[in-house]
Amino acid sequence: MRFSGKRAYMRLPVIFVGHGSPMNAIEDNAYTKEWDALGKKIEPKAILMISAHWFTRGTLIQDAEEPRIINDMYGFPKELYEVGYQVKGDKALTKSVLGAVKREVKVNNDWGLDHGAWSVLAHMVPDRHVPVVQLSVDAYTTPEQHYAIGQDLAFLRDEDVLIIASGNIVHNLRMVRMDMAGGTPECAAFDAFIKESILAKNHDAVLGYPAFGIGASLSVPTTDHFDPLLYALGAAGKDSAVSVFNESLMAGFLSMTSYVFE
Ligand code: ZN
Repeated sequence: MRFSGKRAYMRLPVIFVGHGSPMNAIEDNAYTKEWDALGKKIEPKAILMISAHWFTRGTLIQDAEEPRIINDMYGFPKELYEVGYQVKGDKALTKSVLGAVKREVKVNNDWGLDHGAWSVLAHMVPDRHVPVVQLSVDAYTTPEQHYAIGQDLAFLRDEDVLIIASGNIVHNLRMVRMDMAGGTPECAAFDAFIKESILAKNHDAVLGYPAFGIGASLSVPTTDHFDPLLYALGAAGKDSAVSVFNESLMAGFLSMTSYVFE
């Protein structure tokens, strides 16, 4: 990564972040240290957040003055519910997304910033001065169409808007085993396959991930946490340099592997 004073980038990068447990919002661990450091390198005018946890029919976007805080997690310590990542929205950003995405996008403020968004933002932008607009992940479309939406959003990188897609490449909560260190061989192989494909700029291989077989079906039993990666890849294009961070698997069936495309 380049450094030049406070602003380390000309065209802003695109980030895919593996968010993992909501507890990362209030923890100081190896993953969150990377989030803290990354946030210090980038000074965007606004953030477009694409979170796995807003998984909807069609594509929705917020235009609220202040997005709601969605505490979409259960049974965690009280402290986590008090993070309350309150920030401004950005109507101009919403408008430019509505004008740029070639598929139908509907304004919807029923949702807000969920833990896929604020657990990461609490570290990357701790003082909450950057407006955030969240875009939903369409649950009823193809990998290619997620990717195409990402392509439609790429222009934002030249307008000082940071695109963050938040999910997990391997995410199987039904199988997750908290007593297990690292990932199962199948999930580790899938995470590595995605990494190699991204580094080789072979986006077609990522889009065709089900062909990987059992490792893909164990890693992506539902597409909500994987799909954000496809938006990030579309927005990144094939000209971006790729950095991998937080490359690791835990609990057998969860990967934190994350990417910066700059
Ligand atoms: Zn999640």
